[in-house]
Amino acid sequence: MTDSTTDPRHAHREEGFPAQQQDQPGLTGLTLPTPDHGEASYVGHGRLDGRRALITGGDSGIGRAAAIAFAREGADVAIAHLPEEQADADDTVRLIRDAGRTGVSLAGDLRNDEFAAAIVSHTREALGGLDVLVLNAGYQHDIDGFESIDPDRMRRVFETNLEGMLLTARAAFPDLEPGASIIVTSSVQAYNPSPGLIDYAMTKAAQVAFVQALAEEAGPRGIRVNAVAPGPIWTPLIPATGWDEERLATFGQDTPLGRAGQPAELAGAYVYLASAESSYTSGIVLPVTGGKHL
Ligand code: NAD
Ligand code: MG
Repeated sequence: MTDSTTDPRHAHREEGFPAQQQDQPGLTGLTLPTPDHGEASYVGHGRLDGRRALITGGDSGIGRAAAIAFAREGADVAIAHLPEEQADADDTVRLIRDAGRTGVSLAGDLRNDEFAAAIVSHTREALGGLDVLVLNAGYQHDIDGFESIDPDRMRRVFETNLEGMLLTARAAFPDLEPGASIIVTSSVQAYNPSPGLIDYAMTKAAQVAFVQALAEEAGPRGIRVNAVAPGPIWTPLIPATGWDEERLATFGQDTPLGRAGQPAELAGAYVYLASAESSYTSGIVLPVTGGKHL
């Protein structure tokens, strides 16, 4: 049987996307069409029963899809997000609670050293522990030629994607127990960098080095560390990147599957890496790229 759910070319929106611009952080309500986070489709099978997860950037996009899936798999979930994203965070927390699990939202800026660490202790207090840490928050902005790189935006890229991630991981690492899983959202940009995202691509490549090095240190403690490398995924980050009409109209069209991905199509990758199904897997980068190779 071939239908729209089994043929990956037709499983989700195939056209490009309408012209639109947002400030960072992008908001789900302003992102048209609304991304699919698996609200109507994700079915859990108890794969994360009783686990306690923290997802940075869990209010929207890929992080929200992971939050919904984790909750439906039986996990309690804390999400961290910027204060401007409280409405998105509230919606995600509601979806976690609808699954019968505890949902907690932690508002603040991961470029702040104290906040980047404090989300770990807040999660442990609220959920009684931390077993799955998803380091997913990220920032990118279009650069129109290398000479026009803006120092403030460049620092925001490095501080959000690298420093914030490192400080959250450092806060969590000493008390993680055997069976814990750390998952970083890297990108196909780590391997196939675009000139217009040069600083961002550098952080995504550095995240791969982080995952591989930490996996080596964490393995003897029974802790696994892996990355997911998304390709072009329709999330609020995209209309907030500063891309023009042409770039949005063709977003994702250059993949072998011929379309952009939806956040819902990432959920299984995060559940796999979080759960015991991947008990012999550490230090890997799992591509979810519409067929683009790393
Ligand atoms: P998104 O905008 O929904 O999620 C990014 C989140 O990062 C925001 O919701 C926000 O909460 C968080 N964030 C950003 N700056 C922050 C800060 N200073 N403090 C606290 N939180 C901050 O977009 P998304 O596409 O789901 O992004 C999630 C991850 O996926 C990012 O790391 C991004 O680099 C990565 N990624 C996305 C794509 C894509 O095409 N959408 C492709 C490859 C990788
Ligand atoms: Mg958001």
